[in-house]
Amino acid sequence: HAKRREKSICSYTQTMRHALQRRQRMTERLSAAITEDQLELYFQPQVNLTSGRLTGAEALCRWYDAEWGWVSPSEFIPLAEERGLIRILGDWVLKESARQLLAWRNQPRGGLPGRLSINISAQQFADPELPRHIAHLTAGVSPSAISLELTESDFMRDPDQAVEITHTMRQAGYALAIDDFGTGYSSLSYLRRFAADALKIDISFVREMLENKNDRTIVQTIIAMANALEMKTVAEGVETLNQANLLAEMGCNEAQGYWFGRPLPADKFAAVWLNT
Ligand code: C2E
Ligand code: CA
Ligand code: CA
Ligand code: CA
Repeated sequence: HAKRREKSICSYTQTMRHALQRRQRMTERLSAAITEDQLELYFQPQVNLTSGRLTGAEALCRWYDAEWGWVSPSEFIPLAEERGLIRILGDWVLKESARQLLAWRNQPRGGLPGRLSINISAQQFADPELPRHIAHLTAGVSPSAISLELTESDFMRDPDQAVEITHTMRQAGYALAIDDFGTGYSSLSYLRRFAADALKIDISFVREMLENKNDRTIVQTIIAMANALEMKTVAEGVETLNQANLLAEMGCNEAQGYWFGRPLPADKFAAVWLNT
């Protein structure tokens, strides 16, 4: 028995060591990828549920590594946050977003309608200089072309500071969206003070809203709450026509998801969504 246990502990520590080694190597390679401009932005359409029109797009970071292939943002974003790389990654995302918006704007058929949504992580948000920093990195692009997405928990880390930054941002003309809404714990009173423009209904509620009555109730409640606070709602992860129809019926304003379009590289996105 003791032997067997020893063996399993041994393989456990070995697995742990491998995982640590992978993360260490990944940190090094990610750091190089950022500075050598090897990341890429994909763009996913956001659509008005009543008119079907494009209201903007979300910029989503992609990383192709020669050794590992595509690495999911759900793996490398938390890693970047943990290993102190998220600020330089976030800076790259902001700069590249601005470069792309300007490139589209200079094309004969015109630029992206509405706003480009950019994900901002908590550590970026903690910087009191963030509004000026963003303006600097996106020079040449009007704040009215940008929406910043922050999760509920990012807002709640230091609610008073968040209230201040969000007001500064909105005064400057940026829109603010609360991402993954429903998965955190923001109190109603803070929600009102944050002065966000939109709530993004988390994919986990949308996924089973047709089959699951509780999820449907949550979605309906989020929409009612957003209406009361004069915020618009954007549903994440809409994969079927039935979901889109039900959301429209419930009064949800906009949606994003595979049903409307997958995230695409800039040139493909422009070919499908901007040249009509
Ligand atoms: P998120 O901000 O909630 O982004 C939405 C995620 O849902 C994206 O995953 C998108 O590809 C995926 N998605 C869109 N439509 C559908 C659908 O119909 N079905 C399903 N199952 N998924 C759908 P992705 O691109 O893998 O990104 C994962 C997360 O990584 C994002 O979640 C965001 O939190 C983070 N992330 C991505 N890019 C950036 C970035 O530039 N900066 C920061 N800070 N975080 C980022
Ligand atoms: Ca997002
Ligand atoms: Ca998110
Ligand atoms: Ca989400």
